[in-house]
Amino acid sequence: MRQLPALWIALHITCVICGAQVAHLELVAPGRLPARWARWNAAVRRLYTQCRDPAQWWLIVESEHYTNGSGENITAEHAAQMRDAFAYPRRHTRVRNAALPGDAGFCPHCDVPYCPRHWTGPSGQERTCPLGHTP
Ligand SMILES: [Zn+2]
Ligand SMILES: [Zn+2]
Repeated sequence: MRQLPALWIALHITCVICGAQVAHLELVAPGRLPARWARWNAAVRRLYTQCRDPAQWWLIVESEHYTNGSGENITAEHAAQMRDAFAYPRRHTRVRNAALPGDAGFCPHCDVPYCPRHWTGPSGQERTCPLGHTP
């Protein structure tokens, strides 16, 4: 089994057609600071410090379907599901098991992610992938 020595784990999902960001997630181990800490201003750092339970895992999500700002505490159980979704190869089933918002743009049939623009069918009405699949 592969060991993950990283202090944090990031999941960056981009559209296979245009490369637009679909979702960016960061999983931070208990007692660690997020990777983006250095880029945060004092207000965001204060918010983080107030909300963070240092004994718990921390999850930051940025996506079309869900964004949680500086992040939120998650249980060790949820973190374990997330770690599985972050593992390679990144497949729809893993993403679904981790309950990522909107399945992180993955089409269950193509098994690849598309951005919201490419999830819009030719009619502009129905939500289908570029190959015509429905989620
Ligand atoms: Zn796209
Ligand atoms: Zn598809």
